[in-house]
Amino acid sequence: MTSKKDNLSELQQKDLAYNWHPYVQHKTMQPPIVITKGRDAILWDENGRKFIDAIGSWWCNPHGHANKYISKAISRQLKTLEHVLFGGFTHPKAIELSERLLSILPHNQKKVFYSDNGSTAVEVAIKMALQYHINKGEKKDCIISFEDAFHGDTFAAMAASGIGLYTESFKGLLLKNHRIPVPTDENIEQVENQLKEIIKNNKAAAFIFEPILQGAAGMRVYKPKYLDRLMAICRESEVLTIADEVMTGFCRTGKLFACDYLEEKPDIICLSKALTGGFIPLSATTTTQKVYDAFLSDEVNKALFHGHTFMANPAGCAAALASINLTLSKQTEDNLERIYQHNLTFALELKDNPKVKNVEVLGVMLRFELNVNDKDYYGDLRNKVYDYFMKNRIIARPVGNVLYILPPYCITNKQLNKVYKVFRKTINKFVS
Ligand SMILES: *Cc1c(COP(=O)(O)O)cnc(C)c1O
Repeated sequence: MTSKKDNLSELQQKDLAYNWHPYVQHKTMQPPIVITKGRDAILWDENGRKFIDAIGSWWCNPHGHANKYISKAISRQLKTLEHVLFGGFTHPKAIELSERLLSILPHNQKKVFYSDNGSTAVEVAIKMALQYHINKGEKKDCIISFEDAFHGDTFAAMAASGIGLYTESFKGLLLKNHRIPVPTDENIEQVENQLKEIIKNNKAAAFIFEPILQGAAGMRVYKPKYLDRLMAICRESEVLTIADEVMTGFCRTGKLFACDYLEEKPDIICLSKALTGGFIPLSATTTTQKVYDAFLSDEVNKALFHGHTFMANPAGCAAALASINLTLSKQTEDNLERIYQHNLTFALELKDNPKVKNVEVLGVMLRFELNVNDKDYYGDLRNKVYDYFMKNRIIARPVGNVLYILPPYCITNKQLNKVYKVFRKTINKFVS
């Protein structure tokens, strides 16, 4: 019998020799698949095998791979100006992008701070919130977030996150955080009371949340009206609200931003992932005039001493402007509706199936749970289902027993049907 290693391509062998991949135990992991080409919702590997990307490359790709309109915008920008330091300098694309973002975000957002990825967008948001209170003369020393939240892997982002696997090695080393349950019809009053108690007994700087859809928790949906109630409590008690729209931004939930479902307006919003169409690492932390003004002073140390070498990278800004044009196009509007309706039809079928539960459709997202006992995040069942998807040429990383899609908006009905078909087979194969 040949060992796994013998079947590896040269690129796979070299990859394992040199690269360190995220969220895997390298001792036991499967060799990574070498992707060499992409177009729309399809990725090709080095052997010409075709995969349907049903999760937009980890939620960052809204308009398909190697999108020509976006790549042209980047290429044009790179021939003019590839990068300039953002300290003491600026450039037209950063100005244009900020103006554009502020015109489409909730209208209380007035300033844009750039960084490189979702975690740093959150890091900046939390530092802004802490220093906001310090600058106003009150040191606050903790934050509030939801159970099972995910906000990234840097230190402040880890503190805000609630999924144990990502943070358990760093227990005791993180910023103080208080967690409240995600609100449901049953517990909303209890959650409100819990939030009030936490605010009363602690000095909380901010409440951070993934608005109405918790991604890494397994695409868990909750009601905007309950988030509104929790945000109102924060507003009344001078606790800043931070909407982490890193995953939900740019139409994932059906509206441009998940915050568009809310009556309350957050003080700070974090954007990344789909911001550049998934082409270039870029993120933005946006905020209100009130927060910004707390940093204005004759004292230099009241400024926000945070920056990144590649912040507001011109190619990233050009990509973002192009991606926003596509996002606001009639074609995207039609695609969003088409995918939503298609998902709804499949969801109706799933709702009649006792082998699945908790079926939800929100925007382009469809999720359901296999009715099984093994719910481990990276458990045995999860890994088997993942392998089964790969065998069937579907990229859709299950979360525990949760199967979901969050496809690029150009995915065709035929491709969606293929994904549904694999989901049906998965249900029958893995649920008795
Ligand atoms: C992915 C994600 C992050 C982290 O973004 P990275 O770019 O991976 O650092 C933060 N918040 C949410 C809600 C996310 O989905």
